[in-house]
Amino acid sequence: MKKYLITGGCGFIGSNFIHFLLENQLSSQIVNLDKMTYAGNKDNLSTIDHDNYHFIKGDICNQSTVRNILEKYNPDVLVHFAAESHVDRSIDGPVEFVNTNIVGTMNLLNESNQWSKKLSCEKKNSFRFLHVSTDEVYGSLGVKGKFLESTPYDPSSPYSASKAGSDHLVRSWFRTFDFPAIITNCSNNYGPYQFPEKLIPLMIINSLKGKDLPIYGNGMNIRDWLYVHDHCRAIQMVIEKGQLGETYNIGGNNEITNIQIVKHICSILDKETPLRSGKSFSERIVFVDDRPGHDYRYAIDSSKIKENLGWEPLETFETGIEKTISWYIDNKTWWGKIHENIYKQERLGLI
Ligand code: NAD
Repeated sequence: MKKYLITGGCGFIGSNFIHFLLENQLSSQIVNLDKMTYAGNKDNLSTIDHDNYHFIKGDICNQSTVRNILEKYNPDVLVHFAAESHVDRSIDGPVEFVNTNIVGTMNLLNESNQWSKKLSCEKKNSFRFLHVSTDEVYGSLGVKGKFLESTPYDPSSPYSASKAGSDHLVRSWFRTFDFPAIITNCSNNYGPYQFPEKLIPLMIINSLKGKDLPIYGNGMNIRDWLYVHDHCRAIQMVIEKGQLGETYNIGGNNEITNIQIVKHICSILDKETPLRSGKSFSERIVFVDDRPGHDYRYAIDSSKIKENLGWEPLETFETGIEKTISWYIDNKTWWGKIHENIYKQERLGLI
């Protein structure tokens, strides 16, 4: 059982990963370092009542915060989720993206590398730094092809450019300092605890609130969708069996257009919570101005992680979206609080 330092553990994927570690009794200690931006939500972890879980409010960009945590807790693994993660917000305010995603990642690398020099040989050799990144660093695909780990970087948005920058830094720390880092690049995640600005929770919640369902452009953009619990299993497998300095692509084998996603959500809701009028939720679909620089298609080739580590997604999109919709129906208080206090569903990222 290992000691984990998690950054960004109050966000969507980080909080799912902490639940995953605790439910599967995989950790002897979890330290969660989170700045609590608009996306950080302590309610995601409110059910945790565990002596071995410690929350620290702090910024990954702060040198002494990171140094003190490393020296106090001596983690076996650092899983780095903390980031500014929403493309639309990166169009409106790129500075925070560069600060957290690039400078913050560099600070974590630098402090971890300095700290690891003081460790015993055995502890130093077993330490792992896992950097969680995105398939968006590879840019946009046409109708054919998939992203491989060797695909050249070609990011389109300030968000994906900042994640690309952080990936380059991680790789450079491995090559220059022999620092024990591994990178994962995954496709779009969905599931419980996702901040309601992202496509899937936005569409489910707008439907439940009787609001319009706004789709960017013509809705023909394609993404690969990965159920967040499958992603957590993949991360754990990479920590246990991944090769240092390697990159692993993680995808869900679910390429779907945005419009198909929204129609699918509507058809499930038509059965689960039918409208009194007898109409379909899909009648609320509206097409709105496209996102500037909107990538057309992302698709992941996950054969490396499948062949080398034996990971495959367990959920199909059909099973994952059923679970996700049920979760948002059952957790109205969770998203109701966010709507009341933090997120007013304003349109972001138009220039
Ligand atoms: P999120 O926006 O839900 O959560 C990010 C968390 O990081 C929040 O809790 C926030 O408070 C924290 N944070 C932000 N800046 C910080 C700072 N300076 N110091 C400490 N904490 C800070 O993000 P997510 O969707 O959970 O994504 C997690 C990671 O996975 C990110 O690195 C993201 O780039 C990557 N990723 C996400 C997806 C996806 O579909 N959500 C897909 C591919 C990759």
